Amino acid sequence: MGQAARSVVSFGTVRSLGNALPMLRSRSTGIAFLAAALALFAAGSADARVLSPNTVPKRLIFPVVGSSHFTNDFGAPRPQGYHQGNDIIGPWRSPVVAVESGTVTLWTASARAGCMLWLNGDSGTRYAYIHLNNDLTSRNDNSGGCVPGIAYAPTLANGQHVKAGELIGFNGDSGDANGGVYHVHFELQQRSGVSISPYKWLRKARPLLYPVVKHVGPEGIGFKLQGTVVATRKSAEGVHLVVKSSFLRATDGSKYDVDRKVFFTINADTRVLAKKGRKRKVSKLAVAKPGRKVTVWTLPVQPTVDTALGKRGALTASRVLVVR
Ligand SMILES: [Zn+2]
Repeated sequence: MGQAARSVVSFGTVRSLGNALPMLRSRSTGIAFLAAALALFAAGSADARVLSPNTVPKRLIFPVVGSSHFTNDFGAPRPQGYHQGNDIIGPWRSPVVAVESGTVTLWTASARAGCMLWLNGDSGTRYAYIHLNNDLTSRNDNSGGCVPGIAYAPTLANGQHVKAGELIGFNGDSGDANGGVYHVHFELQQRSGVSISPYKWLRKARPLLYPVVKHVGPEGIGFKLQGTVVATRKSAEGVHLVVKSSFLRATDGSKYDVDRKVFFTINADTRVLAKKGRKRKVSKLAVAKPGRKVTVWTLPVQPTVDTALGKRGALTASRVLVVR
């Protein structure tokens, strides 16, 4: 919201850290330089992509899991210059995830950015995640450091390749956001190293139900999800219950507000219960009429981006409770 965003003292520009077309810089004469650039364009080679402004994937994964908000604050005047990203405001230590697959560079050398990382996306787009957590407690102690488990995902290493949706860090207030509202200052850069507004991509980005984490045992992770019935669908792939989610609790104790459409496979072992007042009784899926409040428990899964997006076929309901 505007109110919250206004009070955020934020990082201005990280442009100086960008990679500025080293290929072209090495050319000495202008004509050879131009000819080479045109040839690359004509060939449509991988190198031509360096010069193309259109490498940002159409739909990114939303960078923060759980409730958050942001405004169109790119270019807003800030003490150190124009704002080079969008501030995504959310609770302390909210999971921060990779918006696409790519390689991470952990960056701790900027006092203003605090604990930050670069995600060098496989598409060629580069993303900055700034002001990650540096606190051990919720009392803004600044004593956790820019280390894995505090600022970064527990086992994340510099140079590691991550998948889209994978946990990479935690929301915080490090750097010049210290003591302000917890937020991720998110930047999007094309290969040229120039930041462009991430706003329209954030608006379209797909929120995850939970972060894709690696440290789940062989037993997997299950969910209890609350929401509203959208539809029940029958197809060659089986029977699905489609739910508009509002709240999710995972068996690892994590809880998130999530607003997205989730598909649950319904099979012969799924128990469907109807609740009316305080009474619950065994029922059939037909009770799940659109608009009814519903709670769904899933079988455990190994976290993947498909389960985190609640895609068709990724999650199976063990129990469904419909409020009549
Ligand atoms: Zn910012």
